[in-house]
Amino acid sequence: MTDQGFSTKAIHAGWDPDPQTGAVNVPIFASSTFAQDGVGGMRDGFEYARTGNPTRRVLEANMAAIEAGVYGRGFSSGMAATDALLRATLRPGDHLVIPNDAYGGTFRLIDKVFSQWGITYSVAPVVDPEAVAAAIKPNTKLVWIETPTNPLLNVGDIAALADVAHAAGAKLVVDNTFATPYLQQPLTLGADVVLHSTTKYLGGHSDVVGGALVTNDEQLDSDIAFLQNGAGAVPGPFDAYLTMRGIKTLAVRMDRHSDNAEKLVDFLVAHPKINTVLYPGLAGHPGHEAAAKQMKRFGGMISVRVAGGKQAALDFCAKTKIFTLAESLGGIESLIEHPGAMTHASTAGSLLEVPDDLVRLSVGIEDADDLLADVDQALA
Ligand SMILES: *Cc1c(COP(=O)(O)O)cnc(C)c1O
Repeated sequence: MTDQGFSTKAIHAGWDPDPQTGAVNVPIFASSTFAQDGVGGMRDGFEYARTGNPTRRVLEANMAAIEAGVYGRGFSSGMAATDALLRATLRPGDHLVIPNDAYGGTFRLIDKVFSQWGITYSVAPVVDPEAVAAAIKPNTKLVWIETPTNPLLNVGDIAALADVAHAAGAKLVVDNTFATPYLQQPLTLGADVVLHSTTKYLGGHSDVVGGALVTNDEQLDSDIAFLQNGAGAVPGPFDAYLTMRGIKTLAVRMDRHSDNAEKLVDFLVAHPKINTVLYPGLAGHPGHEAAAKQMKRFGGMISVRVAGGKQAALDFCAKTKIFTLAESLGGIESLIEHPGAMTHASTAGSLLEVPDDLVRLSVGIEDADDLLADVDQALA
């Protein structure tokens, strides 16, 4: 069979209509244990639902297919996936390189928890492969990137950074939460493992928390699977079902998110109360060339630096009516937030501190004219 298109995989990979009932969608298998035909006689590989659950297995197969990978593993959150991946790849004494504007929760876990087990890190800008190379040490085992980054939307050249990591004998991890596999597929560009907070665009409806890891590396997958079962941060079957339901419409949603974001970017760039618009699609944005090369479109996330500093940024967040003031991103509804006081508060005083005039917009799939009018009145 020829390789299928993205949406065909997103809608079908991992599940054929149930031979017994014809169910077109995967059922929510709310069963913690599975009957065996004699000791060790598992039907279809299931024994206990922490180890494996049929609904979760469909999500995992689907995630692998849409990320152009072989092995997918589901987790109860993006942070649970992060935690499992760090433990699968690092040992006391090892070092990793992280972005200088990593997701606040990723930074907090590495800085506050893994440091207690003798793991050290250096920070480097993902836009600069030479700076990432310079941050590598003899004991570096991982180069961890997000692209685009959260919240500054800096773009790293995945292929170039894979070369940098591999030249040092390290693995490249790409947190693909912001771009999604519809816009970029890091494994095809040389990354060793892709991480998702499926809470965001993949789930897409702000109704479920989850995470996933996808890799082509059999040994790495086996180490991840050991921790998935051994530490047990698995998604329940209802969560796996909701995430699958979201993934089926990922392509149409991402196109609409990108359409709306592009219109809003044009508006914001011309607005006198906005000093800077951060969007990977803008010529001159850090990493724009890499984004144009590796991304299908530029996505639904926009950050802006508001003229008038922190208070003006907080006022902007307070005054929107359709854009809801809330953390998280990637849902169908538009959200606005102040990273310095909200999602990235844990980076205060660190090398990853974000500017206090920064506002992050997660542009939803409402009507673009309504979103423009809302931002217009909030900045007035
Ligand atoms: C939200 C997020 C995470 C953490 O995922 P949770 O599902 O909230 O645990 C990790 N990376 C990025 C880029 C995120 O936006």
